Amino acid sequence: MTILIIAEHDGVALKTATLNTIAAAEKIGGEIHVLVAGSDCGAVGQVAATATGVTRVLVADADHYGAQLAENLAALVVDQVRADSSFTHVLAPATAFGKNVLPRIAALLDSSQISDVTAIESPDTFERPFYAGNAVARLKSSDKVKVLSIRTTAFDPVSATGGSATVQSLAGGADLGLSQLAGREVVKLERPELTAATIIVSGGRGLGAADKFHAVLEPLADKLGAALGASRAAVDAGYAPNDYQVGQTGKIVAPQLYVAVGISGAIQHLAGMKDSKVIVAINKDAEAPIFQIADYGLVADLFVSVPELVSAL
Ligand code: FAD
Repeated sequence: MTILIIAEHDGVALKTATLNTIAAAEKIGGEIHVLVAGSDCGAVGQVAATATGVTRVLVADADHYGAQLAENLAALVVDQVRADSSFTHVLAPATAFGKNVLPRIAALLDSSQISDVTAIESPDTFERPFYAGNAVARLKSSDKVKVLSIRTTAFDPVSATGGSATVQSLAGGADLGLSQLAGREVVKLERPELTAATIIVSGGRGLGAADKFHAVLEPLADKLGAALGASRAAVDAGYAPNDYQVGQTGKIVAPQLYVAVGISGAIQHLAGMKDSKVIVAINKDAEAPIFQIADYGLVADLFVSVPELVSAL
């Protein structure tokens, strides 16, 4: 039994989501191989080789893997799986990266993908939430090769050091030419990345405007060393960029501390943050559902209470 993990990386470093995925693979058992595909990605392969639990790293280094396009990447993964019958599982994090490439792999392998796995019961039985986290399904897969996306917040990352896997170069496949990257707009974050942050300050429609969102929340985030997040209503209203969105259709986060400011607590928002270790809610409506899951709640006007909190910190 061998598990193939598709590494998520930026060409320089391995994303923590890959370390969470390796942790899930350890619970399945068997050998863990990590596939690093990219352009000029040899250094990432070396980094992956030191992660705890990894036995082999496969590096496919070619220009046409640089953009991580799903078509070329899926073909590469499927070629590896077909060439080596010991592969029983293909795993990737349930991030935008994994969600982009895994369904194509599952379809090519004629497997039923199991998405957003939150617990491993055995090599063929897994748990995943559905109905925005209100129910948990226990699924047994009879597929020859099981294709799983892993909810990263459900598995603590393995250590990035301590391992000594062998690193092997792959010839890779040809460029299928089915798609090409026209451009990429990367938001340069001066704050911690949302999914990796230990503290998140998140704002909702209660902030009322984009300038107020930043003027009220940024000083608090600065004081706490926090990442900024937002509800979908705040994103849709243009208060915050798209990649700030937390929730069912945004990012799933589980920081040590989540401060929800002017957020009502709709189930779609809770689906993305309810596993946070400590939840603080500031809302002027004492009946707001967010208070039902908050560890600490402050019924107050945020425009008064947040500046007061900032000056008290
Ligand atoms: P509101 O519900 O309008 O709440 C604003 C809150 O601010 C209120 O509770 C109010 O009391 C408080 N407030 C106002 N003024 C002040 C003040 N001065 N001081 C203190 N408090 C104040 N939502 C997400 O967040 N993430 C998702 O991923 C997501 N996915 C969705 C997917 C689907 C399919 C659907 C249908 C919906 C989704 N939603 C998602 C939307 C979700 O249903 C809610 O509409 C949204 O979360 C509401 O955002 P909000 O809490 O900021 O706004």
